[in-house]
Amino acid sequence: MARYIGPVCRLCRVEGVKLYLKGDRCHTDKCAIERRNYAPGQHGQRRTKRSDYGTQLREKQKVKRMYGLLEAQFSGYFEKAERQRGITGENLLFLLERRLDNVIYRLGFCSSRTEARQVVRHGHVLVNGKRVDIPSYLVRKNQKIEIEEKSRKMKRIQESLKSSERRVVPTWLSLDRDHFSATVLDFPKRTDITEEIQEQLIVELYSK
Ligand code: SF4
Repeated sequence: MARYIGPVCRLCRVEGVKLYLKGDRCHTDKCAIERRNYAPGQHGQRRTKRSDYGTQLREKQKVKRMYGLLEAQFSGYFEKAERQRGITGENLLFLLERRLDNVIYRLGFCSSRTEARQVVRHGHVLVNGKRVDIPSYLVRKNQKIEIEEKSRKMKRIQESLKSSERRVVPTWLSLDRDHFSATVLDFPKRTDITEEIQEQLIVELYSK
């Protein structure tokens, strides 16, 4: 499937916020947003007023890029969120949060969602003791998520776990660092998603 393979820091600069696509680098002063917080390109520093549509579109693009999804995948999640009970925008975020690659990232086993997706695809993750290599797999309550025993020695997983000590694990997940495992305690709550997201704008965009 086609995927964006250009420089990812450019995406953050287009959106004007940190999307945390490059792992540890995102937390250092090498981050492109820290150095040049304006849009890339010749006219990047020009001030432009955004229309309502433009604002809604940028919010959708921001969230889509944050979770590393393509348009069709993202709108598929939106359709699913619409069919669920509750607030559509929140349902959308909860679906995205429950993706296995996101869970692996949130737990700190990987320093970015891109890396987490690769770790899942390569079969390093078990759910309730069974290998699951589908990054879009949606975790459910009471499931046990763990890094496969042999893979726990992988340098990048060990380093990510160490450097993620300062990151807060969402309350709906319970991490056992010593055993490279976690339990899904509940479904995500809106307060667990700390990134600045105005999901209502995405709902407005898709409702047009
Ligand atoms: Fe975005 Fe990370 Fe690059 Fe900073 S370092 S611009 S947060 S991808």
